[in-house]
Amino acid sequence: MTIRIHSRLEQSRVNGPGSRAVIWLQGCSLNCSGCWNPLSHSVDGGKAVEIDSVVQWVVDLVVNGRIHGLTISGGEPLEQAGALLALLQALRLRVPEISIGVFSGYTEYELARGAFLSRDGHLPSHLADLWRAIRQHLDFAVLGRFNIHRPSHQPLVTSQNQALLLLNDRHSFSDFSPQSVEFTIDSQGTTQITGFPILQ
Ligand code: SF4
Repeated sequence: MTIRIHSRLEQSRVNGPGSRAVIWLQGCSLNCSGCWNPLSHSVDGGKAVEIDSVVQWVVDLVVNGRIHGLTISGGEPLEQAGALLALLQALRLRVPEISIGVFSGYTEYELARGAFLSRDGHLPSHLADLWRAIRQHLDFAVLGRFNIHRPSHQPLVTSQNQALLLLNDRHSFSDFSPQSVEFTIDSQGTTQITGFPILQ
């Protein structure tokens, strides 16, 4: 089984508590106002990657002591809900101790009612159950559309209409650092920029 990935980063300190890997999934139909990542919208972009290899990538980073968590962003992760659930289930078997968070443009209200688009063939009547199954593997979620006209300066929350939800007692709000931007330069000289430029 594969999951379509836009990009990934081995180590980040601005996408959730502590040192975390980040995976940006490919494909989003939401067209948020001022979206910061339009290249992640196409369903044909990015690259389809075997879930087993993604899991092994995360496991190796954990075993080598480089990360304690994983953040999944997009694109829109829930638009690959079946693959996302398979990824989370495999991770909870191999590295159950890691913190896992997700960014989604859908609200909790929409997700709980199955009112979202999943492109991997699930019946609309099954989507609420799919979200419930995904949710039980998550430690936190940032939910809601990005809206450039309603900026927020709260940790991980870039629009006032979005919400940071703690889904169990693993984290407290004080674990989340103020918004900041991070530049990563790898051994090949490739620079990756992530994080949250403060909007006025
Ligand atoms: S959900 Fe994310 S990727 Fe999709 S349009 Fe909104 S900001 Fe962009």
